[in-house]
Amino acid sequence: MAEIIRNYFTPRWRSDDIACACGWRGDSRAMAMELHEEVTDYACPACECTLLIVSHPSIDQVRQAAAEGNLEAGQQLSIIEEALAAYGKPSS
Ligand SMILES: [Zn+2]
Repeated sequence: MAEIIRNYFTPRWRSDDIACACGWRGDSRAMAMELHEEVTDYACPACECTLLIVSHPSIDQVRQAAAEGNLEAGQQLSIIEEALAAYGKPSS
């Protein structure tokens, strides 16, 4: 059963251990990552069962997390704002 992370900036999801039904356990860095348009899936490296589904952050979530002092969000926000300045508004 996959755990769903609705806010990318939820603390600790990257480093929390998740136990798979097959007996494997570990954190997201040891899992097989697959990028999709809206989410990133993390699968068990032993049995390929999806363990974690992480929603990509919306720009509002990035702004809010950056305002709360999240360093990664702050970096993403400056990248996003540079891109916005160069290419205009995002389609979403
Ligand atoms: Zn497994």
